[in-house]
Amino acid sequence: MSTERERAGAGPERTCIGCGKKRPKRSLRRLVLDEQGQLAVDQPQTAPGRGAYLCGEGCLTAAAKRKAFQRAFRGAVKSLELKHLEAALQRTP
Ligand SMILES: [Zn+2]
Repeated sequence: MSTERERAGAGPERTCIGCGKKRPKRSLRRLVLDEQGQLAVDQPQTAPGRGAYLCGEGCLTAAAKRKAFQRAFRGAVKSLELKHLEAALQRTP
């Protein structure tokens, strides 16, 4: 279990909530909840509070199907606009 982490070197790893794969945090997209309970892309990955991580747009639908967003944010997600999120993920590098 720990060997993969050691091979990857330093740096935190996070699990993609769509496919469940562990990846270096820097290669994942971070999502946070804004004050309205809407999901937003945290491009600089510095927003405070809970975050959820995705490999990219491809894992968005999978995450929604698994209700992974509600799990990640403890049911605090008020609305899940996949189209909106997908566009936001595509917009940010
Ligand atoms: Zn993924």
